[in-house]
Amino acid sequence: MKQRKWIFAGMLLSILSLGITGCDKRPDKLVSTGTAMGTVVQETLYVTDIEQGKKTSKEILSLVESLEKGSLSWRESDAELAQINLLAGTKEGILLTEQMQTDLQQIWKISEASKGALDVTIGGVTRLWDLDTWAVADTQALEQFQEPGAILLQEALNNSGYSKVLIQKGRMYLPEGMCLDLGAVGKGIACNRIREYLAGSEEITGAVISVGGSIVTYGSKTDGSLWQVAIMHPRKEGAYLGVLSLEGEWCVSTSGDYERYVEKDGIRYHHIIDPLSGYPVNNELCSVTILCRDGLLSDALSTACFVLGAEEGMKLAQEFQVEALFVTKDLEVIMTDGMAQYFTVA
Ligand code: AMP
Ligand code: MG
Repeated sequence: MKQRKWIFAGMLLSILSLGITGCDKRPDKLVSTGTAMGTVVQETLYVTDIEQGKKTSKEILSLVESLEKGSLSWRESDAELAQINLLAGTKEGILLTEQMQTDLQQIWKISEASKGALDVTIGGVTRLWDLDTWAVADTQALEQFQEPGAILLQEALNNSGYSKVLIQKGRMYLPEGMCLDLGAVGKGIACNRIREYLAGSEEITGAVISVGGSIVTYGSKTDGSLWQVAIMHPRKEGAYLGVLSLEGEWCVSTSGDYERYVEKDGIRYHHIIDPLSGYPVNNELCSVTILCRDGLLSDALSTACFVLGAEEGMKLAQEFQVEALFVTKDLEVIMTDGMAQYFTVA
C-alpha cells in the first residue's frame, strides 16, 4: 500500500456528514440530530414513506441509547459492561452475551496486533483523568484541573493490561481492580448495530448516520450520487479538511486530540491515552481517520493508530487491510493510496 503526503495550510477537520444532495426529491429526505452515548447522533435518511421514516429515525436514536444503557456503559449499573467491571476479581467471572463475546474477541485481536496501543482495560486510568467531564467544564472550574497524582496513576496502570484478562467458554475473568472502558470502540459498535437495523427496514433506501466520530453509510441517495462524508480539520473548529465520496456500506471513524481536551499551562490534555505511560498521547499526530466496512474495526483502529503514530499506525492499517489518513501537528496529511481514491481536499 503506497502512501501519499499532502500539505494543508491552516485547515481543520472533524467528521461530519455533509448530506449533499441535488435539490430535487427533497420530500423523501429526512435529516435529524439527537444525542445518545454522550455524543451527537446525526441522521440523514432517504425514505419511501415519510411517516414510517420518522418513526425509524427515532428508533435509531433509541437503539444507540439502549446500546449504551444496556451494554456498553461503565456508568449505567444495568449495562453489561458495568456488570463485568463489578465482578472483577471474582472466581466465577461473568457469562458474556454472545454479542459482547464476539465484540470483545475482535477488540482483543486488535489489542494484540497493536501491542497494547488499544487497551480497553485502562478504565482506571481514563477515570482518573476524567477528560470527558473536564472537556466541557467552564473556565472557572478548569482552574481546578490538574494531572492525576503519579502514585494513583501508577496504581491504575498496574491494574490494567489486556493480556491479564481471561476469556474462556463464554466467560470473562478480570483481575481485581481492573475496569474496562469501551469508549474507543462504542461508537463504531453502534454503527454496526445501526446498519443491521437499517438492513431490516424496508422504507429506508439510503442513509448516512454519524455517532460522534464514527459514521456509517448505507444504500444510496435518490439521485444516485455518492455520500459525502467530511473529515474535520483538527485545528479549525467547524472547518473541514476534505471530503470522502462513498457508496453505501462503509464505516469511517476519526480519533483526534481536538475532540475532548483541556489546555493548561500550554499543555493539551486530550482523551486518547498511551497505555504505556498513562498520559495523553504526545506524538506527531493530531488526528487519524480509518475507512473500512466494519464500525468496530474502524473505531478501534483509529484509536490504536493514533497511539502508535503515523509510521507504526500505517503498518497496522495495512495488516488489517483498511484505508487510513493521518494528520500531523504540522497539518501534513499522510494517507493510503486507497483512501486517496475517495478523498477530495476541501
Ligand atoms: P476514540 O475517540 O475512539 O479514539 O476513543 C477515545 C476514548 O477511548 C477515550 O475517551 C477513552 O474513553 C478511551 N481510550 C483512550 N485511550 C485509549 C486506549 N489507548 N485504548 C483504549 N481506549 C482508550
Ligand atoms: Mg476509536
